[in-house]
Amino acid sequence: MSALLIVLAASVVAFALLETRFGARRRADTRHVRTDLAYVASDFAGNLAVNALRPGFPLALAWLFGQAWQGPVAGWHPLAQFALGAVVLEWAIWFTHWCWHRFDVLYPFHAVHHASTHVYFLSGLRQHPVQFVGDQVFFALLLTLIGVQPELVGLLATLQMVLAFFTHSNLDLRLRGGLKYVVASPRFHVLHHDRSGRGDYKNLGGGLSLFDWLFGTALDPDEVAPPEALGSGDPTVPPGWRGQLLWPFRALRRAS
Ligand SMILES: [Zn+2]
Repeated sequence: MSALLIVLAASVVAFALLETRFGARRRADTRHVRTDLAYVASDFAGNLAVNALRPGFPLALAWLFGQAWQGPVAGWHPLAQFALGAVVLEWAIWFTHWCWHRFDVLYPFHAVHHASTHVYFLSGLRQHPVQFVGDQVFFALLLTLIGVQPELVGLLATLQMVLAFFTHSNLDLRLRGGLKYVVASPRFHVLHHDRSGRGDYKNLGGGLSLFDWLFGTALDPDEVAPPEALGSGDPTVPPGWRGQLLWPFRALRRAS
């Protein structure tokens, strides 16, 4: 756990320095950063909760299947489990992200992520606790179902956060050649945050662009100009963390 925290802290410092030197867009103001830091704290609390639940996932599957659950890759070498787990996790991120957009009952929780008018490395952590915990529980259950070791599930969750720093970073970086069809770059993902709406249901991948290209949801950064403005432009989403915590519930109540 402490080693993973060191990796996350080192990544935060590295991306902060990179953005200070190479930042492509206007930096977020103090108020904006304060909201993002509150999300860092709530994600951390959510992570602790999911970690506490993690030993229960194999038990839940054992209860469901009536016997101790052994996923099909449980006997594989840890490196092979990690590699397969990373790809399965990337598919799951693409799928859940599509669902958060597709279903009216889910979108208000994802809307707080899209209300952000600045996209930089911390933006990846701006996730409502309902989305954060819901995603992490689904990912952990899926990886446990295929037989990935619990320690590797935690490692994959950390890798996913570092990749979210990269894809949301304020760096005008895109990938060329065959690599752009596999790995998501900051220029690839920022199109998903375009206020014009052309990125809706596009470029949904976490660290990989692969599933966007496979499932027809890719918007090619080589074919379109970068966004002129970011964010959903929804003025009803409050700017602070506390207001955003309650906003999805109020939005759902208004809609019903
Ligand atoms: Zn989205």
